[in-house]
Amino acid sequence: MAWRSTGATNAELVANMQSAGLIKSSCVAQAFAQTDRAHYVKEHSRAYEDAPSSIGYSATISAPHMHAYAAESLQSSIRQGKAVLDIGSGSGYTAAIFHRMLEREGGHGKVVGIEHIRELVEQSKRNLKADGLAPQLEQGHIQMVCGDGRLGWPEDAPYGAIHVGAAAPNITEALVQQLDKGGKMFIPVSEDAVLGRGDQYIWEVEKDEQGVVRKRKVMGVMYVPLTDAERQRSLYTI
Ligand code: SAH
Repeated sequence: MAWRSTGATNAELVANMQSAGLIKSSCVAQAFAQTDRAHYVKEHSRAYEDAPSSIGYSATISAPHMHAYAAESLQSSIRQGKAVLDIGSGSGYTAAIFHRMLEREGGHGKVVGIEHIRELVEQSKRNLKADGLAPQLEQGHIQMVCGDGRLGWPEDAPYGAIHVGAAAPNITEALVQQLDKGGKMFIPVSEDAVLGRGDQYIWEVEKDEQGVVRKRKVMGVMYVPLTDAERQRSLYTI
């Protein structure tokens, strides 16, 4: 079971997710093995727990099994030369994973992480540097920007893959437009995402080579809401 993937080390966590069938491809396995979760959490002693963990400002780094699920879902769309957009990039962990998946494809496609809490953007850059990715930040292979991810990031569109790390109220046209032909978006959607209540489901949105869009609801989940920064800050008390 997913929540049983907890390990004593990063390698053990990855191995457990492989045994559980959460990580299937070698591309995803390698990216997770190279990206030590300890660089991205606040509580180092809990780095390899298969559970979400607070990173401050009412945000969490998602549970490893959710990251694995997202990476597997987007794997075939993370291709050489295509940009990847990571919305609600939080700790920077998923940006590192997607960068390493792209790198394995032999190219230097760009990963853009967009996060609306400036302090988290700065923290994510520190995390990425601690993870040895300072050159990639300097060279622009990974770019962490501060902004409202509900609007996407048109500057680097279209994207081969879009990952949304917070629950949106709906699948907005702005994001679908920024998806490339042949691209895929992974997005948690809640009917009441603004208030952080209601059932949430992962939707996979695919755009085929002719530009036809197909949406598929895949599973129930629990994410923090994709909301506005002031509202999120007002909820933050810790
Ligand atoms: N993938 C990240 C998920 C962090 S939780 C990780 O695992 O570390 C979701 C993140 O979305 C939070 O950091 C939150 O601040 C951010 N967020 C919420 N609404 C947003 C918005 N409108 N624009 C950009 N980021 C947003």
